[in-house]
Amino acid sequence: MAIVMDGKALALEVRKNVKIKVDQLKEEHGTAPHLVVILIGNDPASETYVSGKEKACQKAGIKSTVIRKQETIESNEVIELINNLNNDSDVHGILLQLPLPKHLDQNKIISRIDPLKDVDGFTFENVAKLALGKPGLVPCTPLGIMKILEKYEVSVQGKNCVVIGRSQIVGKPMASLLLAANGTVTICHSKTTNLPEVAKTADILVVAIGKPQMVDASYVKPGAAVIDVGISRIDGKLQGDVDFDSVSQVAGLITPVPGGVGPMTIACLLENTLSCYQKIMEIKQ
Ligand code: NAD
Repeated sequence: MAIVMDGKALALEVRKNVKIKVDQLKEEHGTAPHLVVILIGNDPASETYVSGKEKACQKAGIKSTVIRKQETIESNEVIELINNLNNDSDVHGILLQLPLPKHLDQNKIISRIDPLKDVDGFTFENVAKLALGKPGLVPCTPLGIMKILEKYEVSVQGKNCVVIGRSQIVGKPMASLLLAANGTVTICHSKTTNLPEVAKTADILVVAIGKPQMVDASYVKPGAAVIDVGISRIDGKLQGDVDFDSVSQVAGLITPVPGGVGPMTIACLLENTLSCYQKIMEIKQ
């Protein structure tokens, strides 16, 4: 039976450390880090994520503001809003909650966020830094996954790492981080042939597809570390992309859903907001 990697407990540790640092910096500068979340439309999943982020900020002593906009807003209006937030010295982090309504040009809008305030690490500058192995802001979900692997002493160097999913927010940055940690990385996606065979070569398997319980034991090498990023809501219950019951019989380590990657994503958002604040304060001095 696999060891269950407890992302919830680790997230609490990370959040506690963020709070300690935030309290210190508040003393020093007299202001708190401030995260602004832009929420466009009424997607219920986005509403839930945003309210989770707000609560987490509050507990860490980080000021958070949610700016809500109608689904019908145009790209130029969102860009104007972002310009104002970029220029507002009281704002240290800007998060554009995704997905955006279909008529909005997601990449164009994201690219207008000041890279110094890009808590999600999605701007071209931060993506390029990650690809080049330079320090920058790293997307929260893959960053959280690296911390889980570290906590459970799963060494990446020289290991076969397979990432299923090539999205901008999870799969690609995940692959970059594993590569930077000297893993031998394969990225799989919806057009990959023989997916179970490729997945079975992995010592570390990261699954970020969005297809509930698709990955069963036939995809998993005995003893592998399996990270389940997927979140789907089925009959009101959260489900991952990995069939936990069968995979936990063969894997060495596994993250649960809920309680695995999700809490670490939020914890890393707090860390990134803190980093933005520290960098901005350093530049000001
Ligand atoms: P996405 O839809 O942008 O990308 C999905 C990827 O999966 C694509 O690259 C696609 O090629 C691949 N894919 C789809 N069907 C496949 C198949 N049958 N075989 C192999 N590959 C396939 O999704 P995303 O934003 O990367 O999110 C993936 C999942 O992770 C979703 O369930 C999402 O809700 C979840 N997620 C969780 C967190 C978290 O904090 N836990 C954060 C972000 C996303």
